[in-house]
Amino acid sequence: MTDTNHPLNVDLHCHSNVSDGVLGPDALARRAHDNGVQVWSLTDHDELSGLTDAGEAARALGMVFIPGVEISATWAGQTVHVVGLNINPEHSALRSGLAAIRADRLSRAGEMAQRLDVLGIQGAYDGALRYAGNPELISRTHFARFMVDRGVCTSMQDAFDRYLGGGKPAYVRVRWASLADAVSWILQAGGRAVLAHPGRYVYTATQFDALFDDFQQLGGQGIEVVTGSHRPAQYRQYADVARHYGFLASRGSDFHAPKESHVDLGGLPPLPAGLTPVWHDWI
Ligand code: AMP
Ligand code: MN
Ligand code: MN
Ligand code: MN
Repeated sequence: MTDTNHPLNVDLHCHSNVSDGVLGPDALARRAHDNGVQVWSLTDHDELSGLTDAGEAARALGMVFIPGVEISATWAGQTVHVVGLNINPEHSALRSGLAAIRADRLSRAGEMAQRLDVLGIQGAYDGALRYAGNPELISRTHFARFMVDRGVCTSMQDAFDRYLGGGKPAYVRVRWASLADAVSWILQAGGRAVLAHPGRYVYTATQFDALFDDFQQLGGQGIEVVTGSHRPAQYRQYADVARHYGFLASRGSDFHAPKESHVDLGGLPPLPAGLTPVWHDWI
């Protein structure tokens, strides 16, 4: 199936309130459908508990549902995200790996709150938790929402720029899963591993080559080409990477919240021509 003649509206990356989105899985399914999405995946950060509701809602609306996840990993000292698509959410290695990441998130949140306290922002742990739809999954996004609503920050971007982003005063470095573990859990769960939004990582050209090589050798098959965090020039850049390495290409909005996300579900352009979509043999 090509993506050029009658492009299907496929959106394989977004977040519900079981991670750092704001809509519940079924409201998200409805929004995807209203926006014309035909093939949809929910890919919450390090969490699978939204998939049952999302799948039921999606199928009732006539969409093809692809169970997904976005795993936090560390490669060369930086965080990279690996999307797992068409996974079996019941697989035990995947489930226990993600549970360990969520536990690390909780201890990181405690350290972040301590740092914010020293910086004069009190009550950030409980504050962030109030924005978390799932007490097991606490994200910097929840801290940012708390800080904006408290009036300490003017926007989410401001919260990351001044406090939460890499190297900022409330940033706490985490050793997430290794890339090898993240890919392996996805493969063991029967899924396909896709490197999320490569355009967001701050690596040298040499490191990028090594990352793509490593990912491929570990069994990673796809990269996101068209995503909410890429600019059009990056669609072309990562289309070239996909062709060069023989990666399957993915498309996903990375939608989190109506007022925060600049790309809505299903709102991205189709994949550039000449790529094999990651969903080519699923539909
Ligand atoms: P965490 O996984 O807890 O470290 O949080 C990372 C999440 O923060 C990402 O998945 C994004 O949703 C969000 N994020 C990262 N950078 C920004 C930013 N500059 N503005 C708004 N949200 C951001
Ligand atoms: Mn997020
Ligand atoms: Mn991500
Ligand atoms: Mn995401």
